[in-house]
Amino acid sequence: MKGKKLLAGVSALALCASLAAPALATNSPNGNLTNPNQVYSIQGWTNYAEMVMKLQQIESSSQGRVALEVVGKSNQGRDIYQARVGTGDKVILIESEIHGNEKTGTEAILNILQYLGSSNSPEAKKIREEITFVALPKMNPDASELDRRGNDMSWAEVVQAFPQLAHASRPAWNYYTSSNMQQRDYSQRPGFDVNRDFNPDLNYVPKASDFPGDSSKPGWFITPESQTVRDVYKSLQAEFGKVDVFIDLHHQGQYYVEGTDDLVTLSLSADFVPDPNTERGAKYAEYKDNFNLDYSKQLNLAAYNALQSLGENSPFNNITLYSQNLDLPGTALGSFALNGSGTILFEVRGQSHTLGQKKKGQLVKAVETGLYGIINGVTDGSVEQLDPADYNKIPNTAYAPSL
Ligand SMILES: [Zn+2]
Repeated sequence: MKGKKLLAGVSALALCASLAAPALATNSPNGNLTNPNQVYSIQGWTNYAEMVMKLQQIESSSQGRVALEVVGKSNQGRDIYQARVGTGDKVILIESEIHGNEKTGTEAILNILQYLGSSNSPEAKKIREEITFVALPKMNPDASELDRRGNDMSWAEVVQAFPQLAHASRPAWNYYTSSNMQQRDYSQRPGFDVNRDFNPDLNYVPKASDFPGDSSKPGWFITPESQTVRDVYKSLQAEFGKVDVFIDLHHQGQYYVEGTDDLVTLSLSADFVPDPNTERGAKYAEYKDNFNLDYSKQLNLAAYNALQSLGENSPFNNITLYSQNLDLPGTALGSFALNGSGTILFEVRGQSHTLGQKKKGQLVKAVETGLYGIINGVTDGSVEQLDPADYNKIPNTAYAPSL
């Protein structure tokens, strides 16, 4: 398989593996993002208070089309918002900033909600009739406000909420306490990677013997943020029978399109856990009837095709596949894929604080373009006509130029 050698050993890397900063190309046609050692202000990004205000504006100007609801609270007590638009029977659930330093997704969601809520165009009307779009922007708002990956929660607080965990041999493996992780100090304000706290068993109750766990084991729903998303997912299952599509919006480090020195704009993926219908995925056999990898591949292709249709020289080119053959059941994507949702990962280049403002608009637009590819493909059913085999023709990601 193309790129298999190249990506060997990569599976140990976490999603959004920006911990390893590769050297920059100097002559990429797509342009350097920034000096990786420079930390930019995040003032240009929508902060939590601004997001709440914007969501309220979108709701009030939507003539009842957009419904805003507080569906949970973060560990520090911030409201977690859901915005819902459309009345169709196909459900698209989308979240942003599960890692709080990965902000393009929130901007894209707000723009899409604005359009779907206020536009009277036949296209927008058709989308509202065919799908129900459910968005959880800044689902990890404490991390967003700290502009960091992990939430703001101590192991002691976890044990307080789940006293049975006092007997765990060690805290969860995804508990950050280091003084320097992605340029952030967790020693005084520890936290968890919420995107390893999901479990395909949506009714799982934390047990001490399941700790500390590791990346190839499910998470535990010990954080209020993952619990909120789980509860939204379950309520949509109850209402619609299933959640057709789940999209998770992230950022990654700076990587290259395989075989070139072109910097990747955005990587996509449909692949987070081994297929339960295969030997490698046998441990997930109980989920095999629901799992639909082909549909996930078709949805990723819809995003890819929308971006490619803008032309080879468009700034939205250089789209690759994220690392494949992963086994990450503790991610939201892995858990929801096992529950039968078509799943799509977006990984935009660079963390929010290493993105110059010049690239911000371009990268947000790339996310929006890909998302409209999915929304339109689900709305008119064309996504189901795509050949899943074409997914494997999307270029791979390389960790250095010209590999
Ligand atoms: Zn991420």
